[in-house]
Amino acid sequence: MRFFVAMVSHETNTFSPIPTDRRQFEAHDLRYGGEILEAYRGTGTCLGGMIDGAAARGVTLVPSLAAGASPAGRVAKEFYAEAKARLLADLQAAGPLDGILLDLHGAMVVEGLDDGEGDLLQAVRATVGAVPIGVTLDFHANVTRAMVDTATLLHGYKTYPHVDMDARGREAAARLADVVAGRIRPTVAYRQPPMLPPIAGQLTARGPMRRLYDMADAMERRFGVLSISVFAGFPLADIHDAGLSIYVATDHDQPLADALADELAAAAWALRREFLHTALPVKDAVARALALDGRPVVLADIADNTGGGAAGDTTEILRELLRIGARGATVACLWDPEAAAACVAAGVGATVTLPVGGKIDPSHGAPLTVSGRVRTLSDGRFVYKGPMSRGVEGRLGSTAVLDVNDVKIILISHRRQTLDSEMIRFVGIDPLAEKILVVKSSVHYRAAFEPIARAILEVDAPGLSSSHLGRFAFTRVRRPIFPLDEL
Ligand SMILES: [Zn+2]
Repeated sequence: MRFFVAMVSHETNTFSPIPTDRRQFEAHDLRYGGEILEAYRGTGTCLGGMIDGAAARGVTLVPSLAAGASPAGRVAKEFYAEAKARLLADLQAAGPLDGILLDLHGAMVVEGLDDGEGDLLQAVRATVGAVPIGVTLDFHANVTRAMVDTATLLHGYKTYPHVDMDARGREAAARLADVVAGRIRPTVAYRQPPMLPPIAGQLTARGPMRRLYDMADAMERRFGVLSISVFAGFPLADIHDAGLSIYVATDHDQPLADALADELAAAAWALRREFLHTALPVKDAVARALALDGRPVVLADIADNTGGGAAGDTTEILRELLRIGARGATVACLWDPEAAAACVAAGVGATVTLPVGGKIDPSHGAPLTVSGRVRTLSDGRFVYKGPMSRGVEGRLGSTAVLDVNDVKIILISHRRQTLDSEMIRFVGIDPLAEKILVVKSSVHYRAAFEPIARAILEVDAPGLSSSHLGRFAFTRVRRPIFPLDEL
């Protein structure tokens, strides 16, 4: 068997002023052909799982394109057109194919095109005809009818933090091989209750998503059920189909798929209020962290999560740490290429005074002028230790640690979510020795930091990944929808 494989992945925050153009993909991930197999084999990613799963079934992979960028504003239409054209040209040049494996996000919004993945899948379908298409989608996918009708099977991550990406990639490869071999005939059902759950309420360790996945996991063990995905959705993509959705795939049993999807959709609706979320005001959170015995205490800056499309450069928690003279604290990581460059120019050991952060998104806080000593400089390359993204190379660009009276600010040049303690360790800071770790992440940090943290406090600071959806001016999402509307 021969499977075509490609990745096009972006989570688009349509409220973000940061454009997602070719340079953002180049800084994050843009690979072609055989290089993809070398880069991803053995990693905790969908592509890693697809490569593994294909090998286990004796499937030959024809790799095309792997394009991913940090979440931010709409994807530039020129880049999307280029990636799509490249992928379609590779498909036509690939020779006979038995299946298509695609690692997509599901919340990609392109300039002038709200349903990026739906458009891409329709173009692939038009090119390959009846060849089966297996797709992995992020837990945050805003699934549309176009995606459901075009793909043969969709496989959503079942975890947030996303620690099952490689498992879903393996599953997608195995199920696609089953379809090709005629062992299964998928029938699917899709439901879209009018719900837009905020990000910080979506974790799967406990709460409403745990209960929905406990139900889904039990259903998946029933005879004739192939796979079930409960997509929590990405609320900050202001498009018609944003929000939670249910996808049930059965083996040639449409009534069963429909019945299970109805049951899950009703359960999700009944749990809608449990997704609503509150965090601590900045001053309370910092005071409480300092008062706790033991270390480290993680202050989660959930609203300035670059992984949700926020800038990653807000300064409100840092401002409070400095105001009260906290010591033994690390802020990981603040996106500010200018400040990092100034530190590089000054050199290790130099004392500098400069404004940090607050430069991109002034509506969520101003720059903060600090004086400190340049403690460490780095090219920003590290390897994720996991559990998420294990084995993947991370590139933060030019990176500096600025030490302001023992409040250490990790200044980075490429926007990346703080989801791995290695992002602190690789610049010479021992996270276990710090009293306070500020991480810019909504939920993903929990996979790496829960095992080492004395306590975790979620902070209600300003930012574009805030769970207060009422703070955003939605214009395109279908209405009425909870919690924007009381239903
Ligand atoms: Zn996600």
